[in-house]
Amino acid sequence: MKPARFDYVRAESIAHAVEVLANAGGDGKVLAGGQSLMPMMNFRLVKPSVLVDINHIPGLDRIELGPGAVRLGALVRHRMTAQDLQVARHIPVLHHAMKHVAHLTVRNRGTFCGSVCHADPAAEMPMMTLLLDGTIHVASPHGTRTMAARDFLTGALTTALAADEMVTAVDLVPPAAGTGWGFEEFSRRHGDYALAAIAVLMERADGRVRNPRIAMMGIADTALRLTAVEAALAGREGRAHVFDEAAELIVASITPNTDLNASADYRRHLAGALARRALSQAWDRAGALSGGDTP
Ligand SMILES: Cc1cc2nc3c(=O)[nH]c(=O)nc-3n(C[C@H](O)[C@H](O)[C@H](O)COP(=O)(O)OP(=O)(O)OC[C@H]3O[C@@H](n4cnc5c(N)ncnc54)[C@H](O)[C@@H]3O)c2cc1C
Repeated sequence: MKPARFDYVRAESIAHAVEVLANAGGDGKVLAGGQSLMPMMNFRLVKPSVLVDINHIPGLDRIELGPGAVRLGALVRHRMTAQDLQVARHIPVLHHAMKHVAHLTVRNRGTFCGSVCHADPAAEMPMMTLLLDGTIHVASPHGTRTMAARDFLTGALTTALAADEMVTAVDLVPPAAGTGWGFEEFSRRHGDYALAAIAVLMERADGRVRNPRIAMMGIADTALRLTAVEAALAGREGRAHVFDEAAELIVASITPNTDLNASADYRRHLAGALARRALSQAWDRAGALSGGDTP
């Protein structure tokens, strides 16, 4: 299929991009990697009157390690995030998660920020942004603002971004030294969107779980940070039955959808199985980093 007619504007700067968005009267769309937007336009699921191409704005294609955060600019492609040495060193769980994102051609064009803006409930980047206490940097003709990822992601393919705003970067907080991580994903074929996935961070001290962080996707309308489960797990002994209990709590607390790919019951089963594995992985990695502290 072909998209409906649209005007195309090549933005020269962030100010230019948001001015065009503002003048589009709520009907403009940012074009980043185009890997989600173009298929949706071809199916006429979206019919923007104006496409604002941000691909030529200088300075947005950087990954920068700052005090307390790794910043991914709006033109950082999936391939760059996957291959960046700072990401691999400071946020190994993200380095690992990127291996599950799509295929080479999509990774060469798709952007981290574009995925967060697209807010697909089965995409890795929104989940990782929640896990890593992400902050979204937003620009509009009125200035700039920041939003916590948990406030930004409001539902399936829905965010708190206004029509005249664009995302300029996402900040991710690297885990503290000694933090273990776990990541589990199930999809029909490698590179497909996941049926369900989970990412876990935890520290380990005196045989107990410290500062657990758990995010999931594919099990609700949007990626989720499971703060109630985190609170229940914090301070508990790192034993298999404790991780089983946490997995059961996850299963009891989610309300997945039934769709073409899987039933709600199957997704619940997946969530429990993946959670048990990812929690144990994070615990074991934290143990290896802390010299094998055992209860
Ligand atoms: C075959 C295929 C397989 C895929 N598999 C996966 C997968 O396994 N996992 C996964 O997570 N994704 C997958 N994707 C999606 C891919 O990751 C996209 O790259 C991503 O969803 C969107 O990023 P983009 O830069 O391409 O954004 P675009 O397609 O350009 O834009 C997507 C949406 O975000 C908006 N947007 C983009 N950037 C900004 C910005 N800076 N400010 C404001 N709004 C913005 C656009 O207006 C549009 O509404 C797949 C895509 C394809 C085609």
